[in-house]
Amino acid sequence: MVQIDRNPTREVQIGSVAIGNNHPIAVQSMTATKTTDIDATVALVELMDQAGADVVRIAVDSKKDAQALAEIRQQTTANLSVDLQENYRLVSLVAPHVDKIRYNPGHLYHHEKEKPWQEKVRLIAETARDHDCAIRVGVNCGSVDPAKKEKYDPADSITPMLESAWDHCDFLESTAFERFCVSLKDSDPAKVVEVNQRFAAKRPDIPLHLGVTEAGMPPEGVIKTRIAFEQLIGRGIGDTVRVSLTVPNAEKGQEIRAGREILQDIYNGRVRSVVTFNPTGMNIISCPSCSRVENEAFVELAQKVKKMTSYAAEHSITIAVMGCRVNGPGETDDADLGLWCGPNYVNLKKGTKELGAFSYDEILGQLKTELDLLISGAKG
Ligand code: SF4
Repeated sequence: MVQIDRNPTREVQIGSVAIGNNHPIAVQSMTATKTTDIDATVALVELMDQAGADVVRIAVDSKKDAQALAEIRQQTTANLSVDLQENYRLVSLVAPHVDKIRYNPGHLYHHEKEKPWQEKVRLIAETARDHDCAIRVGVNCGSVDPAKKEKYDPADSITPMLESAWDHCDFLESTAFERFCVSLKDSDPAKVVEVNQRFAAKRPDIPLHLGVTEAGMPPEGVIKTRIAFEQLIGRGIGDTVRVSLTVPNAEKGQEIRAGREILQDIYNGRVRSVVTFNPTGMNIISCPSCSRVENEAFVELAQKVKKMTSYAAEHSITIAVMGCRVNGPGETDDADLGLWCGPNYVNLKKGTKELGAFSYDEILGQLKTELDLLISGAKG
């Protein structure tokens, strides 16, 4: 076993699991079923629980989702976390049924725009306290607090994420709420490493949840995540992890198994010394899917994109395939070509320019046309 001196993070209890303070690194996952489909969601929670998940996260975006969550809670003993999306006021409906509440600082702006975020976070913290819940401040590169973003050079995606996270930590602590952890996620493993290192250098006491968003399909998705985890966990940073993979629901246990395997390898010293994910070749990123996916053909589409683009493997091009219309447009911004899925159509974007919506039958041909243009342009 390799001796790793972990950061002296404070202990945070999440149901029956404790993270931080040298507790074993917890492994988490998230359901991708419609939360209102109670049977399917319970089945997926159980699948993940049996695969060894310490905590399973479920997204809630409406009162109907919140009602379903109450029923799901009755049918499983797994430690549950809720992903509060734009509608932060649902916190009072969901907190009685979960062990942890994740909110995204960048999503607190969508509702009640005139209300300061501090009031919203105060409500979340008070509700969490009343219901014995932990909190995760989940900062995501694709949805950073707009007020922070506009203060910095658009080329610097990391500082606004850090400023947002630090502000939220300070505010939660000012309300005497300390039972929280932080996550800072990006689809680029190098950025995940940098942002978490910088955060931990300033706040080594706050537990960190690590993850690479839209890591994609195995095996590349696992490799990207491994690269980031090795460099962070090997330096004592990280108290809980998630490996986000684009796989069908029946195979979601892979996220847990991959997480455990990576942790085991790190502690056994099976690590790469220098790791950079494919800086000179094709990089396909895809989201792990969640309850927002409106057409399950998304997972198959991601697989087809990977296959269809294999002829261009040596070109340094990033293609992002996202499962929904809510986060898809923002999370594809940094890709050369971006796709996001609606119920009947797939939207296509080149850089930040939208090219239109195409049927699931047409999209691959359209993507190939754009890819070929990009390749010939790059050559020219
Ligand atoms: S892009 Fe949409 S479907 Fe994919 S994980 Fe994010 S919210 Fe869920």
